[in-house]
Amino acid sequence: MRASAYPLIDADVAAALVLERTPVLGVERVVLADATGRVLAEDLVAQAPLPPFPSSAVDGYAVRAADAGKPLRVLGESAAGRPFEGRVTPGTAARILTGGVVPEGADSVVMVEDVQLSIHHVTVPRGLAAGSNFHKVGADLQPGDLILRAGTQLGAAEIGIAAATGRAEVPVHRRPGVALMSTGDELVEVGKTPGRGQIPDSNRWALLAALREAGADVRVLGIAPDEANALRGFVTEALARADALVTSGGVSVGTHDLVKPLLESLGTVHVGRVKLKPGKPFTFATLERGRVAFGLPGFPVSSLVTFEVFVRPALRKMQGFAQLQRPVLPVRLAYDAKPTAERTEYQRVTLRREGRELVAETTGSQSSSRLMSLAGAHALVRVPSGDQGLSAGSVVEAMILSLP
Ligand code: AMP
Ligand code: MG
Repeated sequence: MRASAYPLIDADVAAALVLERTPVLGVERVVLADATGRVLAEDLVAQAPLPPFPSSAVDGYAVRAADAGKPLRVLGESAAGRPFEGRVTPGTAARILTGGVVPEGADSVVMVEDVQLSIHHVTVPRGLAAGSNFHKVGADLQPGDLILRAGTQLGAAEIGIAAATGRAEVPVHRRPGVALMSTGDELVEVGKTPGRGQIPDSNRWALLAALREAGADVRVLGIAPDEANALRGFVTEALARADALVTSGGVSVGTHDLVKPLLESLGTVHVGRVKLKPGKPFTFATLERGRVAFGLPGFPVSSLVTFEVFVRPALRKMQGFAQLQRPVLPVRLAYDAKPTAERTEYQRVTLRREGRELVAETTGSQSSSRLMSLAGAHALVRVPSGDQGLSAGSVVEAMILSLP
């Protein structure tokens, strides 16, 4: 074993450095069918009023409020998509259906349940206020109104409003293409029976899921052996088409740890060790043509925690997200969180609601090989380095992964 040549960098400093060096990807136009989960690249501004015409909210009669209480002659009908082209003049009304255009001259709609009908006339109750029961032109949007801000993720409502304002395509940031590689002579494909000393390549699947959840388009390279030339062969071809490289394993200081030298030869290593637990050997490099590389530690929990702390925000930056970080909420600790000297620790917790509070319970042994500490965890509690720790009962900010 040799000592690492890389300085130990503060976890927050390293996270800021990663974001600073990560580029925002370019823009493409996608049809609405492909827009789910994508991030808007430009502000969407209303060009026309919405609704574009006064639109009835109910089935009933379009009238002049001044005519309330008088029998009114029914001139015709305005149905959705089939407007009544005449004018409602004093002493007249038009039958109207939900979504129908309120005819010229009318200033109110009265629900069919509230009117009195005779063969040729309709009477609406006295005391009618003008403006009832229809959506006015531009009530939802006026021309020039900001509809959606750049950096917004497009979900059902956002795609709905884009469609309602007539856009068949939206400008979004490109999704990051990520090449994913596991390293280690001990790894075998999941499903094959491991020989003595071998283990299944579980990180590939965990990271594939994490990458996809974060919006990446992943190309799985497979398992690279702990051999410098083979490793290089895996990566060079894949990098031609990727925006980022994510590797697991091979970044600690053992002699078989070849990822750091590989990244050194391909670009510039900016982070080689971090004051973080788990995840001390986390490595970050920039490569040619604005690409970035993340060397995640091999221990399953370390790889996923460093993914959360460094990779996920970077992938979100690439996609143009306004919000890069997980939400943070105050939680009350139900256990004593012991500190680690010199390293910020992200402890995994489950949450439960007690009254108005969220109470955090540890997921048990926080060993970096014990994936069970992360499976089902709702949040990561950040325990500052030093000898203080956080005592049970204290309220701290937690990075929320999911809520109970
Ligand atoms: P390394 O970072 O390569 O020194 O690996 C640290 C620990 O993580 C070792 O016990 C490895 O066997 C384990 N490990 C490395 N890669 C993987 C992987 N892809 N899946 C599961 N465990 C792994
Ligand atoms: Mg290894």
